[in-house]
Amino acid sequence: ECVVYWMRMEDMRLKDNRAFSLAASIALEGKLSLMTVFLFSPGDYEAHDRSPRRIDFMLRNLRSLRASLSSLDIPLYTASIEPRHSLPQKLVDLLQEYSAVTVCANMEYEVDELRRDERALRLALEKGIRCEFIHDKCIVQPGKVLTKQDKPYTVYSPFLRNWISVVQGDSATLECATPVKKNTVSLTPKLEDLLKNPTPIPEYIPGFECKDKEKMALYWPEGEDVASEVLRRFLHTKARKEQLGGGKGVLASGEVDDLKHSRIMEYGEGRNRADKDSSSRLSPYLASGVISARECLRQVLALSGRKKLEASNREDGAQMWTQEVAWRDFYTHVLAAFPRVSMGRPFLEKFNTVKWETDAKNLQAFKDGKTGYPIVDAAMRQCNEMGWMHNRSRMIAASFFVKDLMLDWRLGERYFMQSFIDGDLASNNGGWQWTASTGTDPQPYFRIFHPVSQAAKADPSGDYIRQFVPELSKLKGNVLYAPWEHMPHAEFEKLGYPAPIVDHKEARERALRRYKNPGCE
Ligand code: FAD
Repeated sequence: ECVVYWMRMEDMRLKDNRAFSLAASIALEGKLSLMTVFLFSPGDYEAHDRSPRRIDFMLRNLRSLRASLSSLDIPLYTASIEPRHSLPQKLVDLLQEYSAVTVCANMEYEVDELRRDERALRLALEKGIRCEFIHDKCIVQPGKVLTKQDKPYTVYSPFLRNWISVVQGDSATLECATPVKKNTVSLTPKLEDLLKNPTPIPEYIPGFECKDKEKMALYWPEGEDVASEVLRRFLHTKARKEQLGGGKGVLASGEVDDLKHSRIMEYGEGRNRADKDSSSRLSPYLASGVISARECLRQVLALSGRKKLEASNREDGAQMWTQEVAWRDFYTHVLAAFPRVSMGRPFLEKFNTVKWETDAKNLQAFKDGKTGYPIVDAAMRQCNEMGWMHNRSRMIAASFFVKDLMLDWRLGERYFMQSFIDGDLASNNGGWQWTASTGTDPQPYFRIFHPVSQAAKADPSGDYIRQFVPELSKLKGNVLYAPWEHMPHAEFEKLGYPAPIVDHKEARERALRRYKNPGCE
């Protein structure tokens, strides 16, 4: 008999992993062996717009985890399951094949995943197998931060205040899961065989071949140790002068150990600068669960020496960063409380009838980073090059997509998901709906970013645009943000850079009109 830890694509680590720890403690108590199962589900990856980059990152991390598991004498079983709806039954068949008495997994909050787990739970129980689905993904469990009327929050600021009191009111919130020790129980012959002859981890999942896998491996190396090192650098070293990209990965050298001016210490100021290497770049690791959000917060709090979190502190880097991590929790809580957001529906249903444009040429220009607005193009080219974008760039690009091009936000959401290595339904959908004013932004729809003034704010040095838009690499000052405006036409033409595909002023008026009266032209 054995206990199974069912690992999924959001909890790809062994450290501070609650379901893994729980499975190990149940095994220890019952003197049973422990095994790990990972099931690939191409049908789900397709239905959920998983990017080949994220799938490749998953496979790379899984290989690294297999080595760690093997050093603990814990076998890993992998299989690809199709069609996706058969996964619960196939899982239970497998549990029976290995005489499992208990299966433990960390919860996933998307609708399809919840339905899948509910089915697996029912089928397993029918066979007398105990199931433990537990919370692990965010700092505070969805459903635990509620208004006085016991309702989920729909606005971030009051959520944050309550979230902080939950984090500080219960020391168990940030507690690290018990480390799993080497298997001491002798394995069943079947498990012994699996440990010696592991099931293969494919090079790629058919339909999800990652065309730039070498580049991605350079930008975003896999493994728990790498994730810890990315966090360490964020906490202890100064920002690099140069941007990442252009062959420089998240572990590129050149940083200086300097606690006083480390990136986290300067995050309050630096976080809105796309031209600086100022944010943690932990999102790929957090989205795939290669590092736990609790671990990040524990280290940040220990470093800053702060016992108290403050919702209104907008200067201290550690406080600000914690507030960003709370956004991740917020959007997951919204997703869990309002399942319609993971079904392509607007959070604010009154905007269901806004009229969207369908111009395929504009959609393609956006994807290619050829809109004629340098900051938007730099953002999209960073996305295409690195599978990642700075938060400010994501906001500017998404705003341009929805409010300037008036394209349906769901198309943009989809393209980001299909391109990012850190694609996460809750954060991506939350970010898009916030920008499209169909989501949780308490500001009304007339928050419309100006793609030129935003460029000057997000990229005051101009380094970001110059790096990602080589046609403009020789331009400086205001010309860089709106070259068509400041250069003689003939000179502008020589740049080989497109003229703006839309006039911002006109587009802004169209957006205001359509949002004001959803359904009108
Ligand atoms: P840091 O600034 O160092 O922040 C630390 C961590 O906090 C991040 O790694 C992330 O886990 C979390 N975080 C920070 N800001 C946000 C936020 N606004 N919303 C949710 N979580 C946040 N983030 C994703 O992880 N996956 C996505 O698919 C995703 N799509 C987005 C789409 C749009 C349109 C927008 C506006 C934002 C999106 N974000 C997404 C949020 C945010 O842009 C990224 O998390 C951030 O840029 C990652 O860089 P970092 O790790 O250096 O962040």
